[in-house]
Amino acid sequence: MDTTIKSLGPCEIISPLHHVGGGVEVNFRKDNERVLFSHTLDRDSEPHADASQFSFEASGPREHIFFNPAKTTAAIVTCGGLCPGLNDIIRGIVTQLHYRYAVTKVFGFRYGYEGLIPRYGHTPMLLKPESVSQIHNFGGTILGSSRGPQKIGEMVDLLEEMNIDLFFVVGGDGTLRGAVEISNECERRGLKKAVIGIPKTIDNDIMYLDKSFGFETAFAVAVQTVKCAYVEATGAVNGIGLIKLMGRDSGFISCYAALAGGNVDFVLIPEVPFQLEGERGLLEALRYKLAKKKNAVIVVAEGAGQDLIPSAGNTDASGNQKYGDIGLFLKDKIGAFFKERRTECNLKYFDPSYIIRSVPANAQDNVYCSQLAQHAVHAAMAGKTSMLVGRWHGAFVHLPIALATQGRRKVDPSSELWHSVLESTGQSARLSDG
Ligand code: ATP
Ligand code: MG
Repeated sequence: MDTTIKSLGPCEIISPLHHVGGGVEVNFRKDNERVLFSHTLDRDSEPHADASQFSFEASGPREHIFFNPAKTTAAIVTCGGLCPGLNDIIRGIVTQLHYRYAVTKVFGFRYGYEGLIPRYGHTPMLLKPESVSQIHNFGGTILGSSRGPQKIGEMVDLLEEMNIDLFFVVGGDGTLRGAVEISNECERRGLKKAVIGIPKTIDNDIMYLDKSFGFETAFAVAVQTVKCAYVEATGAVNGIGLIKLMGRDSGFISCYAALAGGNVDFVLIPEVPFQLEGERGLLEALRYKLAKKKNAVIVVAEGAGQDLIPSAGNTDASGNQKYGDIGLFLKDKIGAFFKERRTECNLKYFDPSYIIRSVPANAQDNVYCSQLAQHAVHAAMAGKTSMLVGRWHGAFVHLPIALATQGRRKVDPSSELWHSVLESTGQSARLSDG
């Protein structure tokens, strides 16, 4: 696992943070300060493991920086789907650059990577602290976003033309892969540009990160729907509340929403396959639950049970595979199952995904986003590139983008999290006969 962070060159400029005034000491960090990959240690079996194990570069302000603030221009882009906290990140980058480093030329590219291709006609916005001061109170991104491939060479042409030195890229796995290519192209052309990623994933599925921004907001909103579904389920004969939540490949939101909301009987996630039919399949388990307690609540992540639905096989503009709609599929199957048995059931279906994605970040995420933005700016000013900022074991770190996008973090079915879900719902560990 290569955790080395790419650098544009030696840092020879004294950081303006030295002059914060008021006798306040700045906690400058050195590149040799590391955050260990594992925070546990078995001294009996590996007495020297702490020295040899993987570690990440600690994030934070550097005493010497690479870029001269007076001559530095920065730009921000947001790509992919919406996620709570995008505006907080934009605001944090702009204010940190202005107030801590006195970098005043900060542009926002409009509508994702499209904004870097002049023929689309999306003129970049000049961002000032005054113009971003209230944006964290709103969901979405003031810059807009988009999907769809753009030519790397053309995007780098514009960065070159506009003399962008620091390029902050906020987006998911696809966006971050694009950022690596942009950084590689800059290197090929001998351009000294810092490309810094801030990973966006509402599903909390980025590797080597404690949590992604927006995740807490997302599951807190999801909990409201889970509670509504329970109310609906208890208000009718054989009431069933079925909620589809985000989670294409990882079921974290579903797990946390079910744990926080309580009153959930089944959680279905992509990591744990299940069967519909059969003695121990979902439908029989649901029938048993209704017979016993007269109502049931099911939370299903959008990527769960894909092997059961004839997949549409289509792809979106960015080439991501479109998933079959497991929520509507289950709704139909459950309805048909009880109809066949001449049993009354009242199913209420909830799909709150766009509501969840577009809300403003909550207080916890407000703070987390501004910290991520601050750390991203410190890294960029120090001439780091092709890296992203994240938090690992509570400490902010630098990660090579290529390392973090190698795979996805998933719910481990043997983990404490999944066992808590099983205990809280009472569902069987395997909803299948196999
Ligand atoms: P989300 O997971 O929320 O959908 P994302 O960043 O993965 O976010 P995508 O639509 O997949 O969203 O990608 C965003 C942008 O990144 C698009 O413009 C897409 O063309 C570009 N992109 C995706 N994958 C790559 C890649 N491998 N190389 C270069 N650019 C890419
Ligand atoms: Mg993606």
